[in-house]
Amino acid sequence: MIVAKFGGSSLADAAQFRRVRDIVLADSRRQVVVPSAPGKRFPQDEKVTDLFYQCHKARQKGEPFQPVLEVIRGRYGEIAENLGLALDLDGIFQQIWEQIARGAGPDYCASRGEFVNGQLLAEYLEFSFLDAAQAIVFDDDGKLDEEETNSLLQQELLERVPVVLPGFYGRGPQGQIKVFSRGGSDVTGALAARAVGAEVYENWTDVSGFLIADPRIVTNPKSIETITYRELRELSYMGATVLHEDEMYALSCAGATVLHEDSVGPVSRAGIATNIRNTNRPDHPGTMITSTAVKRENFSIFAGIAGRKGYSLVLLEGEDPQQGAFAQKILRAARAHGMDPQAPAVSGAHISFLVDSGEYEHEEEEFAARATVLGAVQPPEVHTGFACIVLVGYGVPHNHRTLSRIFQTLQSRNIPVAMIHQGISEISTWVGVGEEYMEEAIRALYLEFSKGK
Ligand code: ASP
Repeated sequence: MIVAKFGGSSLADAAQFRRVRDIVLADSRRQVVVPSAPGKRFPQDEKVTDLFYQCHKARQKGEPFQPVLEVIRGRYGEIAENLGLALDLDGIFQQIWEQIARGAGPDYCASRGEFVNGQLLAEYLEFSFLDAAQAIVFDDDGKLDEEETNSLLQQELLERVPVVLPGFYGRGPQGQIKVFSRGGSDVTGALAARAVGAEVYENWTDVSGFLIADPRIVTNPKSIETITYRELRELSYMGATVLHEDEMYALSCAGATVLHEDSVGPVSRAGIATNIRNTNRPDHPGTMITSTAVKRENFSIFAGIAGRKGYSLVLLEGEDPQQGAFAQKILRAARAHGMDPQAPAVSGAHISFLVDSGEYEHEEEEFAARATVLGAVQPPEVHTGFACIVLVGYGVPHNHRTLSRIFQTLQSRNIPVAMIHQGISEISTWVGVGEEYMEEAIRALYLEFSKGK
């Protein structure tokens, strides 16, 4: 069985609904479908979820919310009419109006986007419908009760397949509606995939998976065919980072928000692969995220490459050359001062590490004083203006030529290498260069490693 989740842009209008139906019906294993609310049809458009939040705000301020609710009703009406669906939108919107008028909370309001969309999609696909409030449950602290949810979902979904389960929401202990953070339909899909023991969790969006490198730096980078959950975590840490945008935590590559962070746990622990696919290019295989490593074909050795500027290199020397413990104490002190030291290199009583320049400056004096207490012979030597490039993949331990290739590639372009570090996880190799060289270094390394072994 396959669980297929479709994001907001995949269900933004009737034409997109048609694509979704073609995709779902093309493979009879797609038995559980998880929709988001309709997203943007064009860049200046509004997401239905945002419009629902606006209704709630207006009601709170004592302003009329009916005009915005009408706009939302209009969007669903257009889809239903275009596809010839008979769902009683008037009845549904009458109920929603009454609830908002009575002062329903923001979570209730926001959840209606998926609630209505799920019913439209179920009718269109001729699938049954399971209200997520029946099976996704949160505890008193507002945290997802994952085990209870798992058994409820298992029972309710398997009884109804083929079935549509709306994303993004569930219910709290008193029966009140509660939503995940923004982008949370990904989480619903992952929970459903775990519950039914799906062979794969398909996450249909508007990009053909993750790219190997940032397209703002590398022209037309290839997309990642396969990557493990661990590698992805490592890449997103450094790469276009784990975004925190509009309250949306998302694993992202090259700036595009692709996957909600909390959707990784349920499937990765259950050993279920996530396949990121593009609704607008259904023939493209997208990116397969797996629990165990798979041999890579298109970008051998590494899964991806990413970089970030704004690092400082900090060097310290302890009193006693035999004292390896000095390094450990310094690292602990750096953490205690709110820093996240990366790529530490230790030899005898010497230690160096990279740290976010802003974090270091903030604590510079206190940290220097602490280092003296711990036995540093002089104040920390600090070099600013570094960029960190990380090459992620199980490459290096299995290919001894990799490090020399990195050096040669950068040397041939006169890019000085400040440091190279093999992460303890053995899946990432860090390269420190001056900030001014970062883009060129990424391009060079991409070219070198996309050639293959
Ligand atoms: N509709 C919700 C949002 O806009 C949830 C989702 O799309 O996953 O955040």
